Amino acid sequence: QAHLDRIAAVDGDVHAFLHVSDHALEVAADIDRRRAAGEDLGPVAGVPLAIKDVLVTTDMPSTSGSRILEGYMSPYDATVVARSRAAGLVPLGKTNMDEFAMGSSTEHSAYGPTHNPWDLDRIPGGSGGGSAAAVAAFEAPLALGSDTGGSIRQPAHVTGTVGIKPTYGGVSRYGAIALASSLDQVGPVTRSVLDAGLLHDVIGGHDPHDSTSLDQTWPSFAAAAREGARGDVLKGLRVGVITELPDSGFQKGVSESFRASLDLMAAQGAEIVEISAPHFEYGVAAYYLILPAEASSNLAKFDSVRFGMRVNVPGGTVEDVMAATRDAGFGDEVKRRIILGTYALSAGYYDAYYGSAQKVRTLIQRDFDTAFGQVDVIATPSAPTTAFRLGEKIDDPLQMYLNDVTTIPANLAGVPGISIPSGLAAEDGLPVGIQFLAPVREDARLYRVGAALE
Ligand code: GLN
Repeated sequence: QAHLDRIAAVDGDVHAFLHVSDHALEVAADIDRRRAAGEDLGPVAGVPLAIKDVLVTTDMPSTSGSRILEGYMSPYDATVVARSRAAGLVPLGKTNMDEFAMGSSTEHSAYGPTHNPWDLDRIPGGSGGGSAAAVAAFEAPLALGSDTGGSIRQPAHVTGTVGIKPTYGGVSRYGAIALASSLDQVGPVTRSVLDAGLLHDVIGGHDPHDSTSLDQTWPSFAAAAREGARGDVLKGLRVGVITELPDSGFQKGVSESFRASLDLMAAQGAEIVEISAPHFEYGVAAYYLILPAEASSNLAKFDSVRFGMRVNVPGGTVEDVMAATRDAGFGDEVKRRIILGTYALSAGYYDAYYGSAQKVRTLIQRDFDTAFGQVDVIATPSAPTTAFRLGEKIDDPLQMYLNDVTTIPANLAGVPGISIPSGLAAEDGLPVGIQFLAPVREDARLYRVGAALE
């Protein structure tokens, strides 16, 4: 009830939610009853959860921020949603996002932007700005996000929250409306590293419904967070800092906060090591070919026949109906990426664009392999600037894309990444995050390090 009250009080300004559940209290009451009857429900039962609208739910619409899916009801729950319900988490509602998770500001949502609770004139990050804003504004204690190129970590950075992109294959994407299937991961957005670990423990692990899901057991991430908060895990930890990452693209307050965090870690016994990752900075260029290519294929299913909206064209052919529906149902950014993607995949250009981008991706993966031979984690600022103003970059896609320079490489390589708050930028008083990256399957290391520094 407290969270519903909070939503009623502030969401008119923040607009973190696209839909608020009308039966959350009944679900919560049922959990109370079961607990009173002596059932052992586990550590998170009864805790409210906000769900990014990219994840399908049977009891609330799932739009992925798009007009083409307005009011769409899924016949099944995403695996992470089903597991959350089974653990007794109480779905509060569906959160706003850039359409089909394309963007860094939520301004590409078909339903209007979300506002950053720290300053309502500023962006909450994207694409999962709704989940991050809901958590930052105390509308929800926990949220689910998805991260294809930074959509969990960059919103965490600009809202002073914690966001984790798990190892590729660590969390099921079954029921996550696909953006780019070789990059997409689902993960937690919370106010503390321990909270993220508790949620990750619920949603993670093998799922036979997702062919890319890793068939292995995982350690408890909550336990890893507790260990980090307790012990001296920073002692002797080798923290890599990428020499090629240009200082110039970063806001002063972001760089300062990053350096201050490194100093803090060094003071607690961490060893700061300069490493070379020469292809890291080409991640953006490779990503913005690979992502549109995969997205253009994934979005072909929104054909006016199988899902969602249909625009009638009297006397028109099936193709006329498809064209009219996609024209009316998709926003500009989605169209831009479909056009880019189909072009990059077209005969005659495939090798030059998609093929080259895949080669760059391999070079980035090799950079990570080499680096992780020398260090335990890599640290970067989570994004180049603090929250920019709504409207500032909306007409300049390239500027918007460059915002993802530090987050994208993790998706290209499949490695896990965490963003935790590292302070406020001196010049504008807005939150700044520090990102840590670890080798694949070493997500627990991020929880230990994150909790130690938190
Ligand atoms: N900003 C990135 C993009 O626009 C990230 C998207 C994401 O992680 N879903 O593609």
